[in-house]
Amino acid sequence: MTYKAGQRLPAERASRLGHLEVLKSELVNKLIKSFEEPTFNIPSKNPNWQAIPTGGIPLSIVFGIDGAMQPIESESPPYKRLAFVKTALLRIDQFALSKIDKESPHPFALRDILSDSALYHATVFPLQHVSIPGVSSYHAIRKIIFDSLKLDLDGEALETLKWIAYEKWDGKRKGLPIFECPHCEETVATLPYDAEKGNCPKCKGELFITDMLGFHLEMAPDSAPNSVAMAYMNIHEVLLLFTGVRYYWEKNKDILSKCLFVKDGPLAIRAQYSKLVNPIRRFIKHAKEQGYPIHIIGQEKTGRFCEHLELIGRNAPEGHIFIPSNQYIKEEIQHRPITGAPYGKDTNYGAKVFVKLNNFHQMVLNIPTGEFMENPQIYDLIGVENIFETLPTILSNRYEGALLPIELGNGIASLSTYPSTQILKIFAEARGI
Ligand SMILES: [Zn+2]
Repeated sequence: MTYKAGQRLPAERASRLGHLEVLKSELVNKLIKSFEEPTFNIPSKNPNWQAIPTGGIPLSIVFGIDGAMQPIESESPPYKRLAFVKTALLRIDQFALSKIDKESPHPFALRDILSDSALYHATVFPLQHVSIPGVSSYHAIRKIIFDSLKLDLDGEALETLKWIAYEKWDGKRKGLPIFECPHCEETVATLPYDAEKGNCPKCKGELFITDMLGFHLEMAPDSAPNSVAMAYMNIHEVLLLFTGVRYYWEKNKDILSKCLFVKDGPLAIRAQYSKLVNPIRRFIKHAKEQGYPIHIIGQEKTGRFCEHLELIGRNAPEGHIFIPSNQYIKEEIQHRPITGAPYGKDTNYGAKVFVKLNNFHQMVLNIPTGEFMENPQIYDLIGVENIFETLPTILSNRYEGALLPIELGNGIASLSTYPSTQILKIFAEARGI
């Protein structure tokens, strides 16, 4: 089906293109016409909307997790490039939530929440033409990644990485799975149980536990792409979330099962960094089996799933959710053949869930199922009744489908709470680094 003109793109934008003198070529005009009339495939299968399960208990403690990454490049050669990363975890209880005006939150109420119960982390990476004497960018960034986890927040993020990587909850004292050594590039590197540093068995080069994630696979000797900083931000968000989980798991499991963790973005870790996905799934499954379901949601705000919800959400019944199967995702959302590995098998630790609460609030959530499921069903979503009982209490009415913990987290993590980009830039250049 073709989207009706003007429904997605303003008509002015299309007509403005027509005024340009350069558009005289027949081919160009043909192409432009095709750009102006995007076609969207209406799903050939009917989404299976199901009523939101009821009877849950609202979760009394809600955590929001968010991050931001800002690359800064100097405007003249040699084009130095730094990337600042900030992440935040904030805690909101139902009492605090009840005090917040959902239409226009009072800045002081927000400030109180943020000052009492938020953790912040910030770091900076020298991506290009910025050197630390005697060390290549490659090794400097490796060291900064390790130190950022070790030195900030009392080393809790590093402890959480160890807890996940060594699966410390199961008591089996496993070593790390073998990974590629950042020095000799042989896939022989590992570390013994609970170690955070060690040496490559082949070349004896120093290894950090953070090397297992494979940041170095994206880097050149003297520069690194922005995606390294972005990957660090994503990993750090996961570590903050699971620092909360680990804390209550070790101190008070009953409280853990009364928490809702709300993460900005999908519950997924891409490419080589996805090594943490299987341990995370195993922990979530283990905790459920022990009688302590862990409530986590990730909210996707951009991408194909959100676009698909725009398409199917308008005809969906209120108070319903739809969990797409592997086949539905591949055929209707990704438009690729059904063959090959199931969608998300290596990277996702949450199932995709389309949610239509009412005509104003619809959203794409990710909710864990423990072990990977190709075709998750409604009661495979861990804590589904409690999550949906809590959701109405954390809605923000400022934006469509917005959740307060993410909105507040955004405020903390966004680089607008830093000095402005311009000041950061002056700072970076004035230091001569
Ligand atoms: Zn080596």
